[in-house]
Amino acid sequence: MRNLQRSVLAMTILLGIHLLAWSQVKNFSWPDGKKAAISLTFDDARQSHPDVGTPLFRELDVDVTYYVLPGPVRDRLQDWKEIVEEGHEIGNHTVYHPCTGNFPWSRDKALEHYTLHTIREELLAASAELTELLGIEPVSFAYTCGNTYVGRGKSHMSYVPVVAELFATGRGWLNEALNDPEFADMALLQGIEMDGKDFTDIKDLVDRAVETGSWLVLAGHEIGEEGFQTTRTRMLRELVAYANRPESGIWISTVGEVASYINDQRDVIRQRLKAGLTFCATFDHGTVAEVADGDGRLYAAQSYDQSKTEASTILPNEITLVKEQGCYGGALEFKRKAKPVVFYHSDQNIHYSNERWSGTISLWLSLDPSLDLAPGYTDPIQITDSGYDDAALWVDFSDKNPRNFRMGVFGDVEEWNPDKIGPDQNPAFTDRLVAANKPVFERGRWTHVVISFEHLNTREGKASLYVNGKLQGERNIPEPFSWDLQKSKIYLGLNFVGLLDEVSIFNRALSESEIGSLYHLPGGINALLH
Ligand SMILES: [Zn+2]
Repeated sequence: MRNLQRSVLAMTILLGIHLLAWSQVKNFSWPDGKKAAISLTFDDARQSHPDVGTPLFRELDVDVTYYVLPGPVRDRLQDWKEIVEEGHEIGNHTVYHPCTGNFPWSRDKALEHYTLHTIREELLAASAELTELLGIEPVSFAYTCGNTYVGRGKSHMSYVPVVAELFATGRGWLNEALNDPEFADMALLQGIEMDGKDFTDIKDLVDRAVETGSWLVLAGHEIGEEGFQTTRTRMLRELVAYANRPESGIWISTVGEVASYINDQRDVIRQRLKAGLTFCATFDHGTVAEVADGDGRLYAAQSYDQSKTEASTILPNEITLVKEQGCYGGALEFKRKAKPVVFYHSDQNIHYSNERWSGTISLWLSLDPSLDLAPGYTDPIQITDSGYDDAALWVDFSDKNPRNFRMGVFGDVEEWNPDKIGPDQNPAFTDRLVAANKPVFERGRWTHVVISFEHLNTREGKASLYVNGKLQGERNIPEPFSWDLQKSKIYLGLNFVGLLDEVSIFNRALSESEIGSLYHLPGGINALLH
């Protein structure tokens, strides 16, 4: 019997793999059907910027970003005013160009001797002077020498938060990564060196940006034919020609323009997700859900079967709120397998409909299933009005090691299992499970789990399981899904041991790309709440 059960399960897993869609679907889209963005950036207000850059970029018809110091701008003020008029962007690059004191020329202005206060004052002074000289307000910043810190040793601190406060973006130097428009920290954009390079050195990066929909920020100093810290004019000409091919899909623009576009897109994505959010408990400030169309309070009961006798909102001993251990902020910790259960009420929190019902359930889990879980099945989340096999949505870990992680979405039990055959002997049960492919649950690491379902209560009902933004498999749910809504509950952590966070429910089936966005939402679900 056990072997039979195993083989049925193995088949289910195989089916699940068959249905996998591994392509990375992006929710983010570049303007006008473009596939990638490139920004050309030049630092330090060097002499070659007006001398070589101005005529070259006029001829090539591209706008670039110059990160400047007020001093050299003042020295050639007319030329820099012309650069502004041409449409190029002027960014902030401090007043004194402080770097690590390990550079002998920087010892008198070593970042090791700076504080957050002094760097902040210098950045404000540089912006004020550029405004006075050029009539612009810099929104972009580049870290001098790519150094992002002040102080040393125990008083070493990152000044990225200061840049995040004062500017729309901060650009690094000598980085290696392309910027993912959905993920990138705008206060620490990855800047890749273009000095001393031929187009053949750059082409791979450009092609990779197009393949992955990324933003390539190239960083250089002098502009000329050849020389120390010099971006080659030939490379720039070839790069712009390559980008100008009609089929290239490459958008060349300033850091300020691209960042502004990305921020608008991120906002659109956030607003679209937020509009569908009907329930969200982050466990950052207690157990009361931050978003709840219905009752936001967490309830507790002595046992699953006694959940009618709602107890108080005081948590059972085995379940605690933990601070700073969540995927963001706090989390709910289930310390050991226990009889008492906790739940929210479904009514309104999940927009149930007895015709054409769609929705999405999202949560984060952190545990090592093989070490943490007690023997037996465990459901991190189960939403039902009666039981796991009767009009229920859940994910579970199987009863023994190695644990399988599975999604179960079951309509009315009398429809799919009229003879009431037990689950172990019943392909109608096991076939309905969707198993995750090699789930990546580990202690100290958070895994994102999503059940997305659509058109339940029609013959076209369907449910899909996603782990870390990737579709694991889907299953048709043709049978009706009837609830006594007043009895339906959102149970958390049934027999579970581990951490659980950011339980969210949406009133529609999110698309694969939206689930990807939810997975790497900068700042987590909190980004939707403010
Ligand atoms: Zn510099």
